[in-house]
Amino acid sequence: MIIVLRAGASDEEVEDVCRRIVAMGYAPHTIRGTLRTVVGAIGDDRGKERLRALESLECVEAVTPILQPYKLASREVRHDPTEVRVGDVTIGGKTIVVMAGPCSVESRSQLLETAERVKAAGAHVLRGGAFKPRTSPYAFQGLEEEGLKLLAEARRESGLPVVTEVMTVDKVDAVAEHADILQIGARNIQNFPLLRRVGEAGKPVLLKRGMATSIQEWLLSAEYVLSRGNPNVILCERGIRTFETTTRFTLDLNAVPVVKRLSHLPIVVDPSHGTGHWEYVEAMAMAGVAAGADGLIIEVHPRPEEALSDGPQSLKPERFVALMARVRRVAQALDREL
Ligand code: PEP
Ligand code: MN
Repeated sequence: MIIVLRAGASDEEVEDVCRRIVAMGYAPHTIRGTLRTVVGAIGDDRGKERLRALESLECVEAVTPILQPYKLASREVRHDPTEVRVGDVTIGGKTIVVMAGPCSVESRSQLLETAERVKAAGAHVLRGGAFKPRTSPYAFQGLEEEGLKLLAEARRESGLPVVTEVMTVDKVDAVAEHADILQIGARNIQNFPLLRRVGEAGKPVLLKRGMATSIQEWLLSAEYVLSRGNPNVILCERGIRTFETTTRFTLDLNAVPVVKRLSHLPIVVDPSHGTGHWEYVEAMAMAGVAAGADGLIIEVHPRPEEALSDGPQSLKPERFVALMARVRRVAQALDREL
C-alpha cells in the first residue's frame, strides 16, 4: 500500500506514520518527492484494511494499493526518476553515461590500454569482466581475483569508476571491495540469493535483463535488490532470445520506454550483446539513446581479433571514438548531454 502524505507534512508526522506501519508488521519505505512525501508499506497484502485506517490521520491524504507486483521499483511509489551517483558520475540525469571496456579483463596491458582509450573518447565508466559466465566450461573463465586487482589499478590510473560482474554470493564482498558498480549478468537475473546479497553490499547494482525474462520479471528482480535497502539499481537492456538468428540476441528497445513508464529506475542499453556484431553496435547505440536510455554499455578491445571473449562484437578504440561522436549528436537532439 502507498500512504500519500499531505503536502507540507512535518518530519514528526512522517515518523509517526512509519512507526504505525511498523507496528502493523509492515516495512516502511519513505520517498521524499519534490511535491510530497509518500511512504510505501511493504509486506503481505492481506493486512491492507488495517493500513487503510491510516487515512483518518490528519497528515495522510490517501492510502492506495500498489497495483504492480513490484513495489519499490514502481513509478506508483516513487514518481521522480532515481539518479544513481557513482563518484562524479550520475546515471539517470541529463547526461548520457557511457560505460565501455573489454568483455573480459585479459591482461594488465590490455586493460590499461583500453581504459586510456575509452576515457580519451569520453567514456564515464570502465567495464571489464573478471568473473565470466561462459556457456562452455572449456572457454576462458576470467582472471577472477587477479582481474579485480587489475580493475582497481585501471581505476586508479584512469580515474574512471569500474563496473564488473559478480556471479556468486561468496564473491560479493571481494567484488564490492574493488568495483564501483556490481553487475548482475543476464544469466543470474533470477538468482534470488545473489540479488538479496548485492542488495546489502552498499554499492550500486547494474541489473542486466535475462535473455528470457519479461519486463515484469526483471522489475521483480530489481525489487529483490531494492527491498534489501539498496536504492541504487540501474537496469540494463541487453537483448532477448527470439527466433531471429542473424543477430546474437534481439535488442528489445521497446523495453526502454516501457521501463520509463513503469519504473523510476535508470536504464542503459547494451548494443554489444544485443547484436553480437560490431557492425551493428553504433546504430543500436544511437537507437537506444533515441529511445530514451540513460546510458550505454559497450565492449571495446584494442585488438578484437585476439579477444578471449566476445571479440566479434567488440569495437576497436577508433570505432568507439566515431560512435561517441554520432551518439553525442543524438543526445544533443534530445536535449541531453554527452
Ligand atoms: C557481459 O557484460 O560481458 C556479459 C556477460 O553480459 P550478459 O550477462 O548480458 O550476457
Ligand atoms: Mn561480453
